[in-house]
Parts: sequence; structure tokens; C-alpha cells
Amino acid sequence: MARELKQLRNIGVIAHIDAGKTTVTERMLFLTGAKHCVGKVDRGSTETDEDPEEQDRGITIYSACVTFDWNDVHVNLLDTPGHVDFTAEVERCLRVLDGGVVVFSAREGVEAQSETVWRQADKYHVPRVAFINKMDREGADFYDTVDEITDRLGAHPVTLQIPVGAGPAHTNDPFRGILDLVTMELLTFPEDEQDPNYTREPIPEDLVEEAELWREKMLDQLSHFCDDLTELILQEEQIPVELIRRTIREATIAHQIQPVLCGSALHGIGVQPVLDAVAHYLPCPLDMPPVVGTEPAKTGGKGGKRSKSRAKATKADGEETTAKKLARKPDPKEPFCGLVFKILPAKTGDVYWIRVYSGQLKANSRVYNPGKDKKENVSQLWQLHATKRDEMLPEVSTGDIVGLIGPKDSITGDTLCDTRAPVLLESIEFPETVIAMAIEPESTSERKKLADTLEMMKRQDPTFRARENEETGQTIISGMGELHLEVIKHRLLRDFNLDVKVHKPRVSYRETIGQAIEVTGECHRTIAGQQLFAKVNIRMEPYDGDQAGVLVINHCIGDALPWPLVEAALDELHSRAEGGGLIGSFPLSKLKVTLLGGEAQVEGSTEVAFRIAAGEAFEAALKQGNPVLLEPIMRLNITTPEDYLGDFVGDSQQRRAIIAKTGQRGRNSTIEARAPLAELFGYSSAMRSLSQGRAGCSLEPLEYAAAPPEVAEGFSL
Ligand code: GDP
Repeated sequence: MARELKQLRNIGVIAHIDAGKTTVTERMLFLTGAKHCVGKVDRGSTETDEDPEEQDRGITIYSACVTFDWNDVHVNLLDTPGHVDFTAEVERCLRVLDGGVVVFSAREGVEAQSETVWRQADKYHVPRVAFINKMDREGADFYDTVDEITDRLGAHPVTLQIPVGAGPAHTNDPFRGILDLVTMELLTFPEDEQDPNYTREPIPEDLVEEAELWREKMLDQLSHFCDDLTELILQEEQIPVELIRRTIREATIAHQIQPVLCGSALHGIGVQPVLDAVAHYLPCPLDMPPVVGTEPAKTGGKGGKRSKSRAKATKADGEETTAKKLARKPDPKEPFCGLVFKILPAKTGDVYWIRVYSGQLKANSRVYNPGKDKKENVSQLWQLHATKRDEMLPEVSTGDIVGLIGPKDSITGDTLCDTRAPVLLESIEFPETVIAMAIEPESTSERKKLADTLEMMKRQDPTFRARENEETGQTIISGMGELHLEVIKHRLLRDFNLDVKVHKPRVSYRETIGQAIEVTGECHRTIAGQQLFAKVNIRMEPYDGDQAGVLVINHCIGDALPWPLVEAALDELHSRAEGGGLIGSFPLSKLKVTLLGGEAQVEGSTEVAFRIAAGEAFEAALKQGNPVLLEPIMRLNITTPEDYLGDFVGDSQQRRAIIAKTGQRGRNSTIEARAPLAELFGYSSAMRSLSQGRAGCSLEPLEYAAAPPEVAEGFSL
């Protein structure tokens, strides 16, 4: 795809659920000619919501990619979900995007989930423009929403437009146009929503004063970032539009401001200026700093997981020097590197979605996966358009977001790079699952089909886990929330026609220990006539690092033990760490295990002996370290008419919730609380019946915390 990098925009539309992302995207596709009529979410005819589950529920679950041209820029647009159960989808998109359009509803303003997505965009340093949608709705308030963007998000919005009127047509002062403060024009849009044209004209007399006031405010904000602009303002001279645009662009890319636009996507008002803003103010790949990765560790051909986890462990211990940093400029002449951010299974082979950060890649070539120490084939390259592969490409280049067919061993978050110039980019971290559900195949013939389907679904969705319990024959699937598991259940039953029994979802518990402990595991067995001997000392302790699961580190210093024995002990500790705990066999978490040392004899101290001793030490430490059951805690935000506030407070207390804050937002009251997921099953419907459908809530996994004794007692030790 040879094209000017300056003309490329990799952007995402991100927002709280229901703010209008899909409607904005549809409008963009229509306006750019990528689609011939505007799809309506409510009619289930949109381009990006292709999955039947999405069309049924009217929400976006899997991020789809669409590409289009607007004037002279080419846009790769990733549509991302707004529901927090699918937050990982948002994270992986933000990781590979250069810019974002954040959609807010002028009626609801900044909602709890808007805060979540805004924080995520901050985390990935994504420059963004804000679009305040639904200006035609009753109760729409542009200025309140801008204030909330400042106050609640701690952002620096600069209004480039203001609405003329607000609310529906039958009201006194309905929403009927937009004042462009950069060009000082009135924008009006045709009644016919299928008409892509709109009119720009001089601002009518009665609106000039208001427009000038807001333009002054805008210029004042921008003057902080450009001396030339300040000078022209001071000299009261004409300010060229180009200078204003350049200042907005530079400040937006530098994360100093976020331009704000407004409109009504549903009625085709204001989306053309959003496309212009994408072209004018959001970065191209060249504006991005070089990606920084590390020089991959030499794994000695053994590849895989073990060496990788050990590399992580030594890093946390700080004992070994950190890997050398390598930067790759966004330049087609640099060696190729890219990141796999999504895998979409297809009948013709998995499609690996990658973002190319540097260099070029040809079809029918080989790439290197440094995390897995594997070479991979790239047989085909495809332009992405929704989930259809509609254009094959001979070559892709820096900045592209494309589909790739051929790799076998790579997973989401892996780096693919030039075989001669390895670089390992930071992977994508996914949160721990919080909810699980047992499923059982109805017949043995279904077992294999189920296992294959789950394997495929795991590749597609890295926040979904599935593991078989050999004793019960059940498979436990786990995910990020009730809706997430429900969507998976429907896919199994409906899309894959599997004959499986599905149990009720339950909380995903974890186990840890309450106190640090040092123990020695010993092996004095006779196996095949040989007397084995080994002693392994370990320390196990509670640990609050970012890494999910168990951190295993090596503190076995010097040459006291031969390396193969240390390696065998570490390997055993790693595999025990992946097993369950003693309370209910739940996965272990928030634990750090340190291999301190051991003893060997000239005879009989084999790798097997060290594995046995390490395993014994692990079990003993778990037992003596005071096992603790951990339960997922959710962040709960409720917005309710004031009349129901008391009912919600009472209900929250019965659910073991701790209320952090109550407040007021317009005519509604808000409650911010934390509560255990175990008490929140079916909360959406309970909430609806408490408030006759008038309250709204958002639930988001917050952390794992010790469960009270009565919960832990439910599981036998
Ligand atoms: P998403 O969940 O953010 O993708 O939001 P959707 O695009 O699915 O929109 C949610 C609902 O809001 C749908 O019923 C849309 O028809 C409606 N909607 C979207 N934009 C507007 C708008 O500008 N005005 C009004 N009145 N409704 C809108």
C-alpha cells in the first residue's frame, strides 16, 4: 500500500455504550462513499456491528476495522465496544491507534464509562478530538458536557464549534446548526438524512456576538501554544485559518488540548466536520514517536514459555541487567516490525490483524516472532474492511493496519519482525477474568468439537479462558462479566450449534496466602533402584505487583547448584504456580515464590529429584502460609432519579457494598461504590425493578480482595 504516510490516519471511535459510536461510524462510511445508505443500529443494519450477537443487542462487541478516504486522507478506523465487559477490545485497539474520536452524548454528558475509556486513551497516549453527539435530544446540554470533560476527566477541551439551539424540533430553540469558530461560518444540514451535502455561510447577525465571544475564548486557549498567534491577537490583526489549524493540530498531538465538536449523527448533522477534524488535527504515523522495544533474549532454541517467564522473573528481581532498548522509527526504510493485536478465525485460516510500526512486508515472506523464538510464514496480506477480507495486497508498509494469513504460533500481543533485525515490542496486558461458568458436552462426540471451538474462541478473545476439569468432565469457561459469558454461550449454542449443557455463571475466585513463609522441600525416594536426593529452599509471600498470577523468581546465587538442577526446580515451581490452591483449587494469584537455594549430592541428585523437592516445598508453603480466598470486587456506578437514592443505598448495603461517594448530576443522584461480584449477579434487572427502569449503572472489575470467612468456609479445606 504505497501511499504518503502523511495522508494516513489510524483512528478509533471510542465512547460510553449508547453515546452513538456506531451511528457516527455509519455516517462516516456513508459520507466517504464506503457505503451507499446509512445503516441504523436500531434496525440492525450497520456495517461494523457484523456479528449477529451485536445486531441482536444493538451493541458493538468486537472491534471492526473499516477503511475509507476523506478528501486526500486515507483512514483506517477501528470501531470499539463501549461495554466494560469488553474493555480488552478497547485496550488492544488503543494500543495500535494514532488518534481517537471520543463520542459523548450531550444528554448524558460524561458517564462513568466515558471516564474509563478516557483513562484508557490517556494510558496509551492517544491524541483525541471530542464529538458531543445527540444535540437534538431533549435535555441536550453542550456547555455542561464541555465543563464535565474539564472537571471529571481533567482534560483540556477547546470548543471549535458551538451549537445553534439544542433539543428536538418541536421546542422553542431546537438544535438547527453549528457555528464554526475557526472559519466563522454557520453550518446547516439538509433535512434529508440521505443527502451528504451541507451549507457553509457567513454567521447571521443575531449570532455574531455569541460566536465572537466563543472564538475569543478559543483563541485565548490556543495562544498558550503559539507565539505567532499571540502576536496577531495582541495586534488585533486578521488571524489566518491555516495558523489556527496548525496550532490546534500541534497542541492536540502534544496532548495539550482536545478539540470539541458537536452534532447529531443520527440526523446527519456535524459529521463532515468531524472527518475534517480527523484530517486536520489527528496525527499521521509520522507524528508518532518511534516505537521502543527490547532486544529479544537468546533462548537457546528451546523457545517458549519457560525461558520467557524466567526473563520476566529476573527483571522483577532486578538482579540482571535489563534488556537493551531498541527504537524503530515510523519509516518504511527501517527493518519491519509490527504487533498482532487481534486474531480472527476464518475458514480459510486465521486472520492476524497487525499494526505495522516500521519497514515493509511482502506477501509470501517469513517473519520472526521474538517472544516465541519462532519463524512464521506470511502467505497473504489483506486490507481489512469490517470482518470481510476484501482486498489482497502484495506488500504492506509502515503505519498500515492489515490482515495477515500464514502464522501458526503467534497470539494477540506478539511482535512480528524482520528475521535479521529482531525487536520485541511490549505485549498487550489483559486483565484477570472475574466470572466463570461450567459447560458440559451432552455426548462424547461433542467433546472434541467443543474443545476445538473453545480453542478457536480463546485465540480470538484473549480475555476469555477455558479449561477442562478432568475429574468432572466439565469445562470451566471464564470471562470479564455476565454479558461477556452470555455472548460466549450464545455463540456456542447458536453459531456453532454445539449440544452442551450450560450451568449458571459463578464468581471466579482466586487463592493466595496470608503470610510470608520459608520452607525446605526434600526428596529421599528410590526410583528404579536409584536413591534420589534433593533439598530445595523457597520463600512464598503475598505479592501485590501488576502481574496476574504467580511471580516465580530465582535467587539461587553463585555456583552452589548446577544450572540444570536449578532449572528443573524452577520449572516445577512454574508448573505448580499454574495449578490451583488448597481452598477450592482456584487459580493462585498475588503470590511471589522465590527459589532461595538447595542441596545436592554427588550421587542421586537428578533433575527428577529436584522437581520432586520443589513440588513438596511449594505444597508445604501453600499449607503453612495461611491460605486466603480472594474474590473479585467491582466498581459500581449508579445514576438514579433522586427519589430512588435511599432504596439504592439500602440495596447496596445488603450487597456488601462500600459506598465511596454519593453526588448530584443534573436531576439525578449518583452513587459510586465497590462491591463483591458475588453479590451483583443479575444486578441490571434488580436495578431496573428498583427504579422502574429509570436508573442506569456500570460495573467494572476493580481488584481481587480477601473474601470474608463465611464465603471461604463454603469451600472445604
Ligand atoms: P453505541 O453504543 O455508542 O455504538 O451507540 P449507537 O450508535 O448504537 O447509538 C445508540 C442509540 O442512540 C441508538 O438508538 C441510536 O439511534 C441513538 N442515537 C445515536 N446518535 C444519535 C443522535 O445524534 N441523536 C439521537 N436522538 N439519537 C442518536
